[in-house]
Amino acid sequence: MNNLRFQVVAEAFKKHALDVAAPSERPSEYFSKYVFDRKKMHKYLPASVYQQMIDVMDHGASLDRSIADAVAAGMKQWAQELGVTHYTHWFQPLTEGTAEKHDAFVEWDDGKAASEREQNGARSDSAEREQARTKFKGGMIETFSGKLLVQQEPDASSFPNGGIRNTFEARGYSAWDPTSPVFVIDDTLCIPTIFIAYTGEALDYKAPLLRSLHAVDRAATAVCSLFYDDVTKVQVNLGWEQEYFLVDEGLYSARPDLLMTGRTLMGHESAKNQQMDDHYFGTIPDRVQPFTKALEIRALEPAIPVKPRHNEVAPNQFELAPIYEECNLAVDHNMLLMSLMKRVARKHGFRVLLHEKPFDGINGSGKHNNWSLSTDTGVLLHAPGKTPEENLRFVTFIVETLMAVYRHDGLLKASIVSATTAHRLGGNEAPPAIISSFLGKQLTELLDHIEHSQNDELFNLKGKRGMQIDIPQIPDLIIDNTDRNRTSPFAFTGTRFEFRAPGSSANCASAMIALNSAMAEALADFKRRVDAKIAAGDNRISAILDVLRDDIKTCKPIRFDGNGYSDEWVLEAARRGLDVEKSCPRIIEHYLDPESVQMFESTKVMNRKELAARNEVKWETYVKTVQIEARVLGDLAMNHIIPVATHYQSKLIKNVQGMNEVFTPDRAQRLSSRNMKLIEEVAERTETIERLVEELTDARRVANRIPSIHERAIQYHDTVCPKMDAIRRETDKLELIVEDGLWTLPKYRELLFIR
Ligand code: ADP
Ligand code: MG
Repeated sequence: MNNLRFQVVAEAFKKHALDVAAPSERPSEYFSKYVFDRKKMHKYLPASVYQQMIDVMDHGASLDRSIADAVAAGMKQWAQELGVTHYTHWFQPLTEGTAEKHDAFVEWDDGKAASEREQNGARSDSAEREQARTKFKGGMIETFSGKLLVQQEPDASSFPNGGIRNTFEARGYSAWDPTSPVFVIDDTLCIPTIFIAYTGEALDYKAPLLRSLHAVDRAATAVCSLFYDDVTKVQVNLGWEQEYFLVDEGLYSARPDLLMTGRTLMGHESAKNQQMDDHYFGTIPDRVQPFTKALEIRALEPAIPVKPRHNEVAPNQFELAPIYEECNLAVDHNMLLMSLMKRVARKHGFRVLLHEKPFDGINGSGKHNNWSLSTDTGVLLHAPGKTPEENLRFVTFIVETLMAVYRHDGLLKASIVSATTAHRLGGNEAPPAIISSFLGKQLTELLDHIEHSQNDELFNLKGKRGMQIDIPQIPDLIIDNTDRNRTSPFAFTGTRFEFRAPGSSANCASAMIALNSAMAEALADFKRRVDAKIAAGDNRISAILDVLRDDIKTCKPIRFDGNGYSDEWVLEAARRGLDVEKSCPRIIEHYLDPESVQMFESTKVMNRKELAARNEVKWETYVKTVQIEARVLGDLAMNHIIPVATHYQSKLIKNVQGMNEVFTPDRAQRLSSRNMKLIEEVAERTETIERLVEELTDARRVANRIPSIHERAIQYHDTVCPKMDAIRRETDKLELIVEDGLWTLPKYRELLFIR
C-alpha cells in the first residue's frame, strides 16, 4: 500500500535546520527599521506637519485632512527608498486575521499629482517634478496622495458584516488610524485602518477598540483627578503572550483535518512510554531554533518588541511575548506577528498551528492578555505606590476592575469564545469556563480589611505628610508577585491583571473591547458616586473609601482563589450568580444582555444595532466552523478510517482461514481467538462509524433548515458536535488496534515529536 504517512515521516527526518545568518546590525539598530515612526516622520515630513502628527498621536487631536497629502508624500518617499512599490489599507475584519487589498503606487501621469503636492507644501522630490513636467500626460508615475492614505473603499462585500451592510448601505470604508504607524512588509506599505459601514457602524475590531480606549481614557482621567492634578490622559497597556504549535509541513499536509480545520479531528493520544522509547527522538536536527531566531528578526524590523523566549508546555508547543505596549498598537502587532509566524514557519518547513486545541488530550494554546492602565505622567494605575494616597488610588483601580469583571463576567466570556476556543475552555489545563478573579493573599487581606473597617477606625490623621490611612498593609505595599494561581482566568499579577482566557488564534481586540468598556463604565460610575458624596459634604478620602467599601462587598462573588476545575466550584459559582454556561452559541448571547447593551451604549463603544449585527457574524462563524469540521470528519471516517480498518480486517480473516488449514479446528479456534475478537471489534466499530456519519449528516441537514442563525448555532452545538465526539471515540479506538503499517494518517506521536 502506498502510504503517504510513511513518506512524509521519512522526509521529515531528512530535513535539516536552516542556517539563519545573524544580521550585521544589532537588534536595537534594525528594530523599527520598517516603520514610519517618529524618527522617520521627523526626517521625511515638513516641520509643521510633523508637529501636527505628534499632536494627533499623543493628544488625540483630530487629523486635519489638509496635512494628509504632505504625510502621504513623506511616507511614499521613505517607502520608495526601501524599494516599496505597493500600498495597502490593512484592516481587521470580524473574521480573525487581517485583510488587505494591494494597490500599486503607479498611476497614469496627468501632471497633477506632483504640482498638487507642491502646493500643499510637501517635499516632492525634484526628479518626480521633472518627470511630471516633461512627461505630462505621458507615461506612468508613482503617486500616493493624502486621499488614498486617509480613506479607501475596499470591495468588501465578502467580509462578514452581520447584515449591516445589506440592510443599511452597500459600501464599507477603510479609514487610516494615525495612532498606529504605517509599516512596510516586503514590497508593500501597510496602512493600519478601521473598517466601517457608510452609515458609521463598525465592521471590524479596530473601530470599537479605539472607541473603548477613548472611553477608558475619559473615565480614568476623571478618576485620576481625585488623586492627581496633572493627569491629562490615561492609556491602556497590553502585553500578550502568544502560544502556538509547530508541525512539520509534510506531516501537516498528510492530515486533511489539520489542513482544513486547523485541528486534528481524530487521533489517539500517544502513550508516554511510546514517546520515550521512540527511536527517532533526539536524532532529529533541531529545526525550531533557527525558526525562532528568524521570527524574532522579522518581528523586530516592524517594531514588534518581542523578547526571545521559547518555553514549551506541550511537545512542539511554544510561546512568544513582547514587551507590553499601548493597547491599540499591541493588538496590531499581535495580528502582524501571527501572519509573520505563518510565513517564516513555511520557510523552515513548518506549519504554525494557532488553533486553541489542535490536539485532544494535550495542552491547548491561549493568548494571555496582560492588561493595565497608566497615565501620561508615568503612573501605573494598577501598581501600588509609595504613599498612602497612592495606595488608595491603587486600591481604587483594583476594586473598579473587579466591579467591571463582576458586572460583565458573562460578556467577558462571550468576548473570548468561538467554535475553536470552545475545545480549550474548561479543559483541565486551560482556564475554567467560569470567569473569576484571583487576587493573591496580600491583596485579599487588604480588601477584607477595608471592607470590615469603620470609617473612624480607618482614619488616623497623622500631621506630617498629610493623611495616613491606618491600614497596616497600605503604606508600603509591595504586592507579592510569586503568589500565583496559574489557572485563574483573570489573575492579578503584581502590576496588572492577566486575562488568560483569550484564545491563541483570536484577535486580542475582542477581549480588550469588552474589558475596556466595562472598565470605563465602572470608573464613570465610581466617579459619579464619589462626586455625589463630596457634593453632600464628605471629605474626599472618606467619600472614596465609602464607595470602595460598597463595591468591595458588591463584587465579592467574582473573587476566587481556589481550584477552578473542581465540581464544587461550578456549584458554588452558580450559587454566587456567576455565569456557568458552557455552550458557545449561548455564551455569545451575552452581548445582547440589557446590561451589556447599556454598557456599550453609555460608553459610546457600540450601539445595539452593531452588537446585534456582530452577533450574527459570530453565530454564522460558529456554524460554518462546525459545518466544515463535520464534513471533513465524515470524509475522513469514510475514506480513510473505514477502508484502512476493513483492509486490516481482511488480513485478519485471511490469517484465521490459514490457521484453519494448518491446525485442527479446535486448535485453530483457540489460537485464533484474539484475531477473531479483533475482527469482531473492527466490524462493530466500522458499523457504528457508518451509522454515526449518517446521523451526523442528518443532524446537519436538520440544523441547516433552521432560519434563525442564532437558533441554528445552538442546534449545531447541541446536536452536531456530540455526534462528532462520538465518531472520534470510535476512530481513536480503531487507531489503537489497527496495524500501524496500514494507518494512513500521521499519528499524534509523529505530529508532536518530529521537528
Ligand atoms: P509571565 O510571568 O506571565 O510569564 P511576563 O512577566 O513575561 O509574564 O510578562 C508577560 C507579559 O506581560 C509581557 O508582555 C509583559 O511585557 C507584560 N506586562 C508586564 N507588566 C505589565 C503591565 N503593567 N501592564 C501590561 N502588561 C504588562
Ligand atoms: Mg503570563
